[in-house]
Amino acid sequence: MHETSIVNSIMRTLEMEFEQEKLNKMKAIHLKVGILSNIEPRLLHNAYSAYHITNPGYHHVSLHIESTELKIQCEVCNHITNVKNYRFICDNCDKPSKNVIQGEEMLIHKVEFED
Ligand SMILES: [Zn+2]
Repeated sequence: MHETSIVNSIMRTLEMEFEQEKLNKMKAIHLKVGILSNIEPRLLHNAYSAYHITNPGYHHVSLHIESTELKIQCEVCNHITNVKNYRFICDNCDKPSKNVIQGEEMLIHKVEFED
């Protein structure tokens, strides 16, 4: 399952980034998931619940997922447009653009720790 490997890679990234002492105090993970990233937030939550069965040490850490909007930047006038209804057209000059600058990525936006 696609989402399971995403959860595993998120947790591996955090384990490389932070010391064990810090990880023990982790309380929340905030993700930003682009709407073109092929990641379904609901399935990611399910995969995260399943992860705790084999890794009970993180059971108290909550997962928050924010969907990010789709944005394109026009190659002609550099204007940035929020894409709605998959209409890839510049707001400013009406030229079509496929230059997606946001909406395809999945990133760890923020990690919260106990004081
Ligand atoms: Zn333009």
